[in-house]
Amino acid sequence: MLRRPLLLLSRSEKIKDLVSSMPVSGGIVHRFVPGETTDTAVNATRELIDSGLHVSLDFLGEDTLDREQADQTVEAYLEILDALAEQGVARNAEVSVKLSAIGRALPGEGEKIALENARTICHAARNAGTTVTLDMEDHTTTDSTLGILRELRKDFPETGAVLQAYLFRTEDDCRSLAHEGSRVRLCKGAYKEPESVAFQDKREVDKSYVRCLKVLMAGEGYPMIASHDPRMIDIAGALATRYNRTQGSYEYQMLYGIRPDEQRRLAEAGEKVRVYIPYGVEWYGYLMRRLAERPSNLTFFLRSLISKK
Ligand SMILES: Cc1cc2nc3c(=O)[nH]c(=O)nc-3n(C[C@H](O)[C@H](O)[C@H](O)COP(=O)(O)OP(=O)(O)OC[C@H]3O[C@@H](n4cnc5c(N)ncnc54)[C@H](O)[C@@H]3O)c2cc1C
Repeated sequence: MLRRPLLLLSRSEKIKDLVSSMPVSGGIVHRFVPGETTDTAVNATRELIDSGLHVSLDFLGEDTLDREQADQTVEAYLEILDALAEQGVARNAEVSVKLSAIGRALPGEGEKIALENARTICHAARNAGTTVTLDMEDHTTTDSTLGILRELRKDFPETGAVLQAYLFRTEDDCRSLAHEGSRVRLCKGAYKEPESVAFQDKREVDKSYVRCLKVLMAGEGYPMIASHDPRMIDIAGALATRYNRTQGSYEYQMLYGIRPDEQRRLAEAGEKVRVYIPYGVEWYGYLMRRLAERPSNLTFFLRSLISKK
């Protein structure tokens, strides 16, 4: 019930200013975002890798209308890819990129700029010995993201896609992308979408997730099961058995700070598990989406706001 207001709040500039003045090092923010700098992100990466997990790093920021900011985001990715290579952890740590953070929404040539910027990041990732996954944003950008993915895969076939089970179109998209070498992250979807394009009922989203998962697990690609939902995780395990998939021919993915015990349990059982680490100063929209998913965190969040005053 609180999901819609929280997703709307995530667009309020006033609330954003108030919340963004909170220190990242305390309370609820720190639970979901290890820090604002490359160093804090690399330290968190190292810790997770040392405990047997893999990582995907997301330099926070989205919907930029500023060319300079888009360029700075590209620079941030190049910097962290260098740091990962230097620290010898790039084999187990990739990056996740939002096209709207690297210029897609810029007027005029936005798509072209985003493609070129994504290409630069893919080059750097390959030089570092790792890969890029293109995050999926709201439904108005799905075709554009898949189009850019197709272009990138001509030179960088290892580039990962993300599909969102709440969209009606996704089962078909899974069929198109379930081919050999194709890395596909399946998530439920985090944006507020209209009923003309997306399931609104959680149970319908879950059923769609299972249908999509079946397509991916039965296919020739590399499914990345991005969910904290115990039922989805169990079903993925059962499908792996049904389709004779060995451990490591698919992976589980969860967000930093969410169900860390489950992340370790799966890894200890021999599964490949990747933790998505967001970092950087632009953590506001990300934090609001996490709160919208689990309003039980809201009390803690409001308390940290009040105690700051
Ligand atoms: C690695 C990764 C990458 C993602 N990338 C994208 C992307 O590119 N685009 C996009 O739109 N979305 C993305 N998402 C977000 C995703 O779409 C969902 O919004 C988010 O993962 C919540 O859905 P869920 O499958 O975890 O299950 P939910 O339906 O939110 O939760 C189901 C069940 O999971 C358990 N659970 C969930 N959260 C918690 C918690 N905090 N603590 C304990 N138990 C919990 C509970 O049992 C809950 O009932 C990504 C998610 C992950 C994990």
